Order: sequence, then structure tokens, then C-alpha cells
Amino acid sequence: MDSPALACCTMALSVLFLSMSAADDRLVPGKPLSPGNTIVSDGGVFALGFFNPSNSTPANKMYLGIWYNDIPELTVVWVANRETPVTNTTPSTPMLSLTNTSNLVLSNGDGDRNVLWTTTNMATVPGLSTPTAVLLNTGNLIIRSSNGTTLWQSFEHRTDTFLAGMKLRIKYSARNIDELLVSWKGPSDPSRGRFSYGSDPDTPLQLFLWDGERLVARSAQWTGYLVMSLRQDQVTDAMNISHITMYLAAVDNDDEIYFTYSLSDGSPPTRAVLTYSGAYQVQSWSNRSSAWAVIWEWPLACNHYNYCGQNGYCDETVSPVPTCKCLEGFEPANMEEWTNSRFSMGCRRKERLRGCRDNFLALPEMKSPDRFRLVGGEQSTIDECAAECHHNCSCVGYVYRNVSGGMPGGDLMSCLVWVGELVDAGKLRAELGGETFYLRHEGTDAEGERIKSKAVSIVLPVLGSGVLVIICISLAWLRLKGKNKKWRKGEKKRLHGTSIYGETVEGNPPHDQEFPFVRLEEIALATENFSETCMIGHGGFGKVYKGTLAGQEVAIKRLSRDSQQGTKEFRNEVILIAKLQHRNLVRLLGCCDERDEKLLIYEYLPNKSLDATLFDDSRKMLLDWTTRFSMIKGIARGLLYLHEDSRFTIIHRDLKAANVLLDEDMKPKIADFGMARIFNDNQQNANTQRVVGTYGYMAPEYAMEGVFSTKYDAYSFGVLLLEVVTDIRRNSNSRIMGFPSLTVYAWNMWKEEKTEELPDSCIMDTCSPGEVLLCVHVALLCVQENPDDRPFMSSACSSLRMEAPHFRPPSFLPTLRDKVLNWSESEMIFRLPQTVLHLLR
Ligand code: ATP
Repeated sequence: MDSPALACCTMALSVLFLSMSAADDRLVPGKPLSPGNTIVSDGGVFALGFFNPSNSTPANKMYLGIWYNDIPELTVVWVANRETPVTNTTPSTPMLSLTNTSNLVLSNGDGDRNVLWTTTNMATVPGLSTPTAVLLNTGNLIIRSSNGTTLWQSFEHRTDTFLAGMKLRIKYSARNIDELLVSWKGPSDPSRGRFSYGSDPDTPLQLFLWDGERLVARSAQWTGYLVMSLRQDQVTDAMNISHITMYLAAVDNDDEIYFTYSLSDGSPPTRAVLTYSGAYQVQSWSNRSSAWAVIWEWPLACNHYNYCGQNGYCDETVSPVPTCKCLEGFEPANMEEWTNSRFSMGCRRKERLRGCRDNFLALPEMKSPDRFRLVGGEQSTIDECAAECHHNCSCVGYVYRNVSGGMPGGDLMSCLVWVGELVDAGKLRAELGGETFYLRHEGTDAEGERIKSKAVSIVLPVLGSGVLVIICISLAWLRLKGKNKKWRKGEKKRLHGTSIYGETVEGNPPHDQEFPFVRLEEIALATENFSETCMIGHGGFGKVYKGTLAGQEVAIKRLSRDSQQGTKEFRNEVILIAKLQHRNLVRLLGCCDERDEKLLIYEYLPNKSLDATLFDDSRKMLLDWTTRFSMIKGIARGLLYLHEDSRFTIIHRDLKAANVLLDEDMKPKIADFGMARIFNDNQQNANTQRVVGTYGYMAPEYAMEGVFSTKYDAYSFGVLLLEVVTDIRRNSNSRIMGFPSLTVYAWNMWKEEKTEELPDSCIMDTCSPGEVLLCVHVALLCVQENPDDRPFMSSACSSLRMEAPHFRPPSFLPTLRDKVLNWSESEMIFRLPQTVLHLLR
């Protein structure tokens, strides 16, 4: 086609597209929206319509909401009728209409009597203008008058999601629920849940997360403005996007002060969300693993409010999991509790202070403790601030802060002092800023002078660089401009008061703050006091029960008291799994750690384990080839997520058919992360003292030397893949005709080009030879002796995505047989197990 013809054709398509989208992205009076229809933003990023969060048929509850239109997983970012769902008792079809008075009305179609939700926009006079409701590509639904004025917008009525361009406003009135993000009540229940996130009028320079009225976490204070961005390199996908930069801005103009953020161009879909379990997460869509990757999360481990107890602090520079430490000059108040990771008793001074003869130690890059007092005037100097604390013998620390360097109204210096115990302090990673905290410290006068001069030499460059104390993640304070009247008003207001969150956590065990925590009594009630009738399984770590908690069916794993899984493994599993969200991983919904009992609460999966289905003659018929092939791909995606797309590199170390559970649609979910280990990004493999795992799935380097890496899981995946194709247990003697194991048997069949005979007879008719060949090829690559020869799960996933029957071994995967045949004898001895070597001779 010549270029004018091409141009003409492209134009015709664009006109068609434009005319379609012009009709599709908006609602006008007289043309309501009903279930089954959607409005799609011009550009196709978001859709507005009715959804059923529990996916039940028929839908028992329906909501009106906005979700990502171009993402395969329904991801709702805004809900209109959170508390008033359309139920299946509703008499007639619900609809969303735009009235001539410029209001959106969700009704049962029976007119005003059955209004479920409406905007309350009084701005226009009926009949004077024709309004339009438009869904923008930012995810904002707006009502516009005919002259273009915005009369109402969904961005002003946040639910649980903070999208780029939205505002999180600070108001100088009582804590205003409408300005906060409020979590969903459960995974399928958009009504208002327990958790909320936002700012507080009493301490406007910080962000808070609450569980009801209880403070769960407090961010560091903002001390200046600065442009900063951090890159999230782990989020890469087929579009070759190597990083996401988020810019957080605190904007102060004449009318309002708010936080907002923007994303760098070309970023994949990215959103901040307060999850129903109380985590504030930044999630980014990964095309490669077809799932949301959590790229930042708060609070994490010890940065929950006062988790490390008084005079302790959460050291966030410790990788990978932040750890509690005592402030300089302090030691654990109860060493036994502290070494058992129970930090609530905090720390006490090693030596008593000597009164006003003590000195001050400079602790840089700190999140300052809570409950401070502001002293001195707005233009006080650092020396005045130091003197203020020095002369007050009960002052235990101070911070000299340049609150708003560079603002048009001039700099605002402030001097913060602490009296009594220090709570909720933290040490921040260098790139996230922090401020220098001066801690009263017993010591000689000479030492004091030395420390003082060191302190001054530290603080000056820090102040000079306009340090940012982090509020959110890889976020930057983009700008702060305009008048600082309100800010100053806020500061003045705080002059005579302390922060309001003094005593909120007393009486609560620390783990209570960290995870969805369920009381033992509730669990006992749900399982009829752990009765045999509720028991659904028994594994290496204890019994598993079925129960119902908060209306949801759950599986409860009760760890046996004599189980090897001590506190360490228990917390490891809980911390890890609670943060993982992938459709091929079993969700951990909560836990209980009470009175010698350790319990984990998982989503309930009704179709048993893959092991119980695959090797059961009456049940294996449920698994035709199509189901098996998609199951293999699902397991591979779940592993890829663990290895590369979750926050840390996670190695499962016990992948096997018994640890793959099946949901109601026979979709696989990987379970049992009790032995997972967290890796640093730059750490490729590690040694373990304990060899754990299951014989037959265990990679040779792990069994022999205890060395593991992600290639350990790749090996287990290869074995599992062969089991799924053949229906033969890895250690079955009867069907592998004298070969020592399933892998050697499969290897031999492949070598003799009899791969198509490998599938079990029950799927022989339905299976595609190309897909079987592909699976066996990938499996044999995965079970190679040398971990370096095994593919990463990303390669295994892309190979499995190749379409059969056009499959050709992709060029980046070495063809195993060619490779083996080219090896020298000595290489073979080194690389291949004896049995395989024997076969090749
Ligand atoms: P091991 O712990 O020794 O590796 P395992 O994985 O079989 O063995 P568990 O994870 O304790 O042991 O599970 C035992 C059984 O309980 C499973 O095989 C399954 O039938 C059932 N089960 C476990 N979790 C769930 C769940 N979330 N939903 C439904 N059933 C479950």
C-alpha cells in the first residue's frame, strides 16, 4: 500500500475510533448506564460500570465503580455506593443516570424512591445548561457544565486508592474522614473497613495510618522541600520499562494544602492503595507476570507505631527487614524478651544521666521520636536550640529543623525538644533523608566538647542540603509554594501542645499492630474448638481446619507445638505471605500468636491439593490437558512472582504437588511458604544450616551442600511439571520401568524421541503433542544438575507461552540434547548424574 492510501486508511480508522470513544467516555441526561455496559475513558485506561466483587453468579451484591480497563485482573480504584450495594433482592434493574440538575443518581430504576447513591451538587440551576459526566483517562469521573466548569469529581471522594493527580488534603479542622483513604472491609467487600490513611490537623507535616482510632504508623516529619526521586528497577516488563519515578508534592496555595503525586512518563499502571488488611502499598502492574507487583509498602516490620518500645528505634537501613535497636547509651529493658523479637518493653539507660552535666550525641538521618514540644521563636538559631535543651535538665533530646527553607515567606526554623521517654523513633535509609537528632548522653565534659563539635559539623551540611524526611516511598517533594500562612498557623498551634498519640498502643502486643490478628477465641469458635469434624488436612507442621471467619470460608493451619516451626519460621511465613498478592499464590488472611498457639489463616481452596487430584484415579479425570497446561503456566507465573516481582527475592524451597492447591475453577495456587528465605537483590544464593524440602523435588546442590538459589525452585518446578504431564509420582517405582526416578525416565523417553508417549492415557486423546513436547523440554532444562544450566523462571514462563503447535525451541533456550552431545566426556561426568550418563553411553 502506498503512503497516501495508508494515511487515508489510518485517518478513517482514527475517525471511527474518535467517534466511538466520544460516545463511550461520557454520560448525558436521558441515556443511563445499566449493568453490562461500561463507559471507557478516552484512551482506554479506565472503565466505569457495575461490578460484582465476589464474582458470584447471580451477583448477590453489585457496586458502581471505576477500574482499570486494560488490565486482565479486575482492579477497582473507586466505588460510588460503598455502603449501599445493589442486592439481588432489588426489584428492578439498577441504573446510573445524569440528571438535568447535574447530579449522578444511582437508582433501582424506580425513580427517586429507590436512590442508592447520588452526588449532591447544588451548583447549577436546572435547565440553564446541559451537563455531561466524563470519565477521564486519569481515572477521574467529572460532571461538567456546558461551559466547561467542573461541578463534581470522583477524585474529591476517595475510597481506598490514591491515584496520580489526586489530592490528599490537610484540613485544619477535626480529622475529616472524607479526606482520608479508607480501606475495603474485605477482599470482596468494598464497604468502609477498619483502616484509614492521611494527615492529621494537629501534626500536618506527617502522614498517619489508623486502625479505627488506634494509630498504626506515623511517618517521619517533612522538614523542607526537595526534588528527589528513587527508581524501582525491579519493575521491568516486556515493554522494557526499567524504572518508575514517583514525585510526591506537598502543595500549599492560597486555598488549600495537599499531598499529591505524579508518575514519570511511560510508567506502567501504578497506584497507591490502602489494602483491607491495613497496608499502604504502591503497586505497579507487571505485564510479564500479569499481576500487581508491590513496589513499596508501609508500614513494614518495625516501622509500626512504637513497635520497638520506648527508647528503641526501628533501623530501616538494615536489609532486607528493618530491625529494632536501642538508642545509643540504652540497652534492652528485658534481654530475654528482646532476643525473642518482643520489643514492646523497649530500652533503658545503661547509666543514669548526670543531670545538666551531660552531653549530646548527634544521630543523623533519624525519624525523630513522637511527642515533641516546639520551643523558641520561629527564627531561633541552632545554638539557642541546643542551649534550650542543655539548660533544661529533664530535656533528653532536641532537633533543630529548617521547616520550609526557600519559601517565599522566609525560612521557618524550629526547635523541637523531648522530655521523658522517647517513642517511635527510627533510622532512615540515607536516600530517604532524615534529620539529625541530638540525644542527651552521659559522658565526660571533654567527650562532650568533642561530640558537640562533631554534632555541629554534621548538622550544617545536612541542613544546607535541605533534607527531606520521608513521608512516603520513592517519592519526591516536588514543590511547596505559595503562602505559608496556614503552615505557620499549624506550627503555632503546636507550640503549646504535644502530639496527640502518646498512649495509643499500650496494652497491645506488637504483633497486633503488624498483621491482621485474630483472637484465639474467635478461631476456636470457628473450628468448633478444633474438632476433628472441621479438620481438612494434616501436614508436616500440624493440622489444617476449615472454618468461617467474618462470613468468609478460611483454612486455619494450627502449628503443632512440637513442630520444628518455631517463632522464627512462623513470623517469617507471616511477614512474607501477608505481603504477597498474586492469583497463583494462596493468600494469607491473618494469624494468631496467643497462649502458645500459632495459627495461620488462609483463603480456603475447595478443590484440595494437586497431589490429591493428580494421583487419585477418580479425581484425575478433572484435569484434562487444557487444564493441566494452564495450571503449569499458572504455577510458573506464581514462582516468577516470588523470584522476581515481589518486594524481595523469595525462594519457596518446598514446591511440590502437595503444596499446590486448587481453587473452585481448578486454578492452581502455591501454598506453604514456611521455609521461604528472603534474599537481598544482589544476593544470588546462600547457605542454610538446615536442609529442608521434600525428597525427589530437592535440587542436588541443596541436598548435598545446602546451597540454594532461585534455581532450586526451578528444579522442583521441573519435577512437578513432569508429574503433571505423566501422572507419575516422582518416586513411583511401578510406572517408570526400572529407571531410578521420573526425571531419568523422562530424559530417556525424550532421548529416544518418544516424548509423545509420556502423557497418562487419560489425557492422551486431548493433549496437544506440541504442548507436551514444550513442557517436557522445559522440565528437562529445569532438572539439569548444574543450577547455572537451569532456566530462570522468566525464561521458563516465556517458553511456556509459545503457541503450540508452532513451537520451536526458542533460541535463548539451549537445546538440551545438542548441548549434551557437544560436551566432552569430562564435562559430562562433571555435569550429569551417573544414571543419565549411563543412558547416554
Ligand atoms: P507439609 O506441610 O509437610 O509440606 P502439606 O503441604 O500437605 O505438607 P499442609 O500445608 O499443612 O501440609 O496442608 C495439609 C492439607 O490441608 C493440604 O493437603 C490440603 O488438603 C489442606 N489445606 C491446606 N491449606 C488449605 C487451604 N488454604 N484451603 C483448603 N485446604 C487446605
